[in-house]
Amino acid sequence: MLKNLMGGTWREASRPTLPVYNPATGEVLEEVPLCGEEEVAEAVAAAERAFTTWSRTPLLERVRLMFRFKELLEGHFEELARLVTLHHGKTLEEARGEVRRGIEVVDFALSAPTLLQGRTLREVNPGIDQNLFHYPLGVVAGIPPFNFPVMIPLWMFPIAVVAGNTFVLKPSERTPLGAVRLTELFLEAGFPEGVLNLVHGGKEAAEALAAHPGVKAVQFVGSEGVARRIYALAAQHGKRVSAAGGAKNHLIVLPDADLDLAIPAILNSAFGNAGERCLAGSVAVGVGAVGEELLERVVEAARRLKVGPGWEEGVQVGPLIREEHRKKVVGYIQRGLEEGARLALDGRGVEGPGFFLGPTVLDRVSPGMAVGREEIFGPVLGVSRVGTLEEAIAQANAVPYGNMACLFTASGRAAREFRERVQAGMVGVNVGVAQPFAFYPFSGWRNSFFGDLHPHGPDAFLFYTQRKVVVERW
Ligand code: NAD
Repeated sequence: MLKNLMGGTWREASRPTLPVYNPATGEVLEEVPLCGEEEVAEAVAAAERAFTTWSRTPLLERVRLMFRFKELLEGHFEELARLVTLHHGKTLEEARGEVRRGIEVVDFALSAPTLLQGRTLREVNPGIDQNLFHYPLGVVAGIPPFNFPVMIPLWMFPIAVVAGNTFVLKPSERTPLGAVRLTELFLEAGFPEGVLNLVHGGKEAAEALAAHPGVKAVQFVGSEGVARRIYALAAQHGKRVSAAGGAKNHLIVLPDADLDLAIPAILNSAFGNAGERCLAGSVAVGVGAVGEELLERVVEAARRLKVGPGWEEGVQVGPLIREEHRKKVVGYIQRGLEEGARLALDGRGVEGPGFFLGPTVLDRVSPGMAVGREEIFGPVLGVSRVGTLEEAIAQANAVPYGNMACLFTASGRAAREFRERVQAGMVGVNVGVAQPFAFYPFSGWRNSFFGDLHPHGPDAFLFYTQRKVVVERW
């Protein structure tokens, strides 16, 4: 059974457990305990004890330890990628991409000596100077989703900790192994005990963190409904919250687009990570004459994608996370057909024993259908056709989410028009996954984000610190 980390000691919890699977085989890899208030209180107490000295540890010492952690991550790069593939299912290439993107956040955290600088303004009034300092908040908590078991925990604790906070991490109960390994490496880097603590669990542990009076800020990433709930609960308890939610991303293709570039980008966006990505393209919108060719070429290319265990050479689409999730995605396909979509490619025939679903393409999808409006989170791409760019933007804006929208075109003017009018916080032009690098915020809008300051980028340093302004006369 997996253990919790409380102030430097790994402790077993006597709680009911859930299996952690290898989704490509259905084999049980581990048991994860479903902890609650009691374990959360213990972890928060350990983090509170550590905060007193950690918050006063000189910045350069904090940065030196983070450098060591970064070196360990590089040294264990391949091992971490294999672990991601083993218990999440994504291909090894995708897992390597995930680990790299996670390490990039640690690289960014190392810019703390620049990003934690305050400001001064001399002689504001006669003999009066004003200074602004950044201070850590205290104990902060992170609640990541299942789909990036290494990258998303790395969005959270490195920036919080380098800024002088202490941390309680509650990994996803479906993919907790990445966070466990990161925590071991963090300890190996030499961070003092209690700076990072780990509590396993699901809803109960997450809610206990959002409500605990000792937790000053909560960073959540997950589905929309839970993001709303954690945002409201943590805010009700007076905390700072950053809660990233779900998505329904549109990929718009104009008749002047270079389809040789657009088709592979759309394929990767829709079917990469088996569609379990908050930046997954969910609806491809063909504008004008390109609609028919877009559909034909997407279907032809998607049909050739190799489905299988993520560690096998040449596999491009791994399994879904659980059998129940696979059933939910299949339910969406069925519902789409009932609502009038046309099945252009059917991925439902892939044999087990893992939780596999092949790439599926539904044509004639409209925003009125569940498959055109709701997040599916699986390898299902809807295709729709409209007459103009304006209609395509209106379709993307008609969904309640605003994580990402992409446009494929050769026209700078169309790209500018799109950028100005689309209601999404991450915009791609001739790319299918507009993931910002760690030094920019992960900038979801509308129902894709609840809060003010977004994950990583300078936003994250502001999120994990509070300002003190000192007015001085000597
Ligand atoms: P989820 O909402 O089910 O779980 C996220 C976290 O919340 C987990 O740690 C889980 O244990 C906990 N949790 C689950 N149910 C809870 C409840 N009722 N109350 C309190 N906590 C609860 O999400 P998931 O299925 O793990 O992840 C997929 C979702 O995450 C998708 O909707 C995806 O779009 C979203 N996501 C968003 C981003 C982003 O940056 N916007 C990034 C990755 C994933």
